[in-house]
Amino acid sequence: MKLTALGVWGGYPTRDAGTTSYLLQSESGFNLLLDCGSRAVTELEHELQPTQLDAVILSHYHEDHIADLGALRQYRQLFPLGQEGWDGMILKIYGHTENQYEFDKLTLAGVSEGHAYQPDETLEIGPFDISFMKTVHPVVNYAMRIIERKTGQVLVYTGDTGYFDGLADFSKQADVLLADVYFFKDKAKMPNHLSSVEAGQIAKSAAVKKLILTHLPQFGDLKLLQYEAQEAAGSITVDLARPHQKWQL
Ligand code: ZN
Repeated sequence: MKLTALGVWGGYPTRDAGTTSYLLQSESGFNLLLDCGSRAVTELEHELQPTQLDAVILSHYHEDHIADLGALRQYRQLFPLGQEGWDGMILKIYGHTENQYEFDKLTLAGVSEGHAYQPDETLEIGPFDISFMKTVHPVVNYAMRIIERKTGQVLVYTGDTGYFDGLADFSKQADVLLADVYFFKDKAKMPNHLSSVEAGQIAKSAAVKKLILTHLPQFGDLKLLQYEAQEAAGSITVDLARPHQKWQL
């Protein structure tokens, strides 16, 4: 499967990049959007037609992960039927139901349908099997372990999370760990996001193949953030996500 970064900042967008959003594509051509932060639609258009998205899955309902859902739905609602093969397919948006108000907003008649994922069950979306783990965050957030059925390749995406013991186990031997890293190493055990060192330690103890740092802070030296994570991760490759960077798992 192929992972493409669309938005990489935590919190809010800057003039050159948006907030958390990733495109995950299977060998079979299924297009899944992981979170839908600000600028997601604009960045997606550089990769594919937003009408080609098959589904969206949300880790949680903080604005920097859902900001462009409205734009995405307007795009599909207003795109002329028949144009470039567009058939008006209803967009499936998967989210948790521990915030019923936000979950209910995922459904827009004729455009999108909210689908609840059950955190203790494996969810099948197209070619992917997805399992969940609740993380440490001010609102309910689920990390996802996404397995491409055909290849057995594994992507673990943390969504937003502070450090907790179960995360390394959940990430065990993933091909890629895509981790929320909003703090430098002077912070630890924060209630909302990982530090560089914590992400590196989790990657090392889970023996993942690659660690990608995302949900990046707008202030501070990102090369230092990467260096700190790399020091903790040992021989594991650590990448700093940039928009339109791609990883073939
Ligand atoms: Zn959040």
